[in-house]
Parts: sequence; C-alpha cells; structure tokens
Amino acid sequence: MKNKIRIATTSLAGCFGCHMSFLDIDERILQLAELVEFDRSPLTDIEHCTNCDIGLIEGGVCNSENVHVLREFRKNCRILVAVGACAINGGLPAMRNFIPLEECLNESYISGIGIENAQISFLCMTISHFVLGKQNDLETSFSIVLCPYT
Ligand code: SF4
Repeated sequence: MKNKIRIATTSLAGCFGCHMSFLDIDERILQLAELVEFDRSPLTDIEHCTNCDIGLIEGGVCNSENVHVLREFRKNCRILVAVGACAINGGLPAMRNFIPLEECLNESYISGIGIENAQISFLCMTISHFVLGKQNDLETSFSIVLCPYT
C-alpha cells in the first residue's frame, strides 16, 4: 500500500471558515482520504501534532496558546502552509489592533450589549495586545491567500 501524506490542520485566531471551505469538497473527502491521513485536526480531534508532511494553519496569532500550537506545528511539519488572510496578515481579528486590549475585553465579555451579570474573573491564557499574521512569527513554506468568507 502506498504511503499516505500525513497532514495536520489547526485554527488559531480565525473563524473556522477556512476549514469549513475545505469541507465544501463534500463527498470528495472520501477520495482525499485514500491519499492522505489526518494527524491533529478538528476532523480527528487529535490534540497534539506529531511528525507530518504538511501542516495547514488557519488564523492569526492572538494569545499564548496560539504561539504554543504554532511552534508545535513548526517543529513537526515538514511543510507549513498559511491558509487564508487571517494566517497571513492577521485578517479580520487584527482589526482589534486599533483598539486598546482592555476596551476589547470589556466590550466582549464584561459590559457589551446583551451581556448581563458577567462572571468572568480571570483569563486562562495571555492575550496579546496585537493579532499577528505569520510574517511576524515564523516562516511558512507557502501561503494560500484569500478569505473564503469575505
Ligand atoms: S481567512 Fe476568512 S475564512 Fe479564514 S479564518 Fe480568516 S476570516 Fe475566517
């Protein structure tokens, strides 16, 4: 049997739209499954990336967990591909770069429209002041430009 190409995928600061677009191949995913094997991915629920031929990164980098995942992918994937605008230059999430972080967090979790009796008292990760694309963090082998949803 031919060796399958091993692929890992992850979504950092993104909307999962790139992954959803990938799933738009519908039943052709069965043909794809004959050629590739998925490592860490929302498709498999595997939590840590192991040795892979290709790593697909959706989304920008906005917190300590994103940095950790990105480093794990860089270490384990022979070819790393930035998929979509958010992975390349921060995309839509990077719009918050023009607003102070505290103001963003207040608006989203404490006092924004529709929020009542906010209970959040701590954050379990470090949130960065800016959302970054891949050029700010590590070199990828390829970039797939475009945002499927905008
Ligand atoms: S590039 Fe577009 S579809 Fe992909 S994660 Fe960003 S906003 Fe979503």
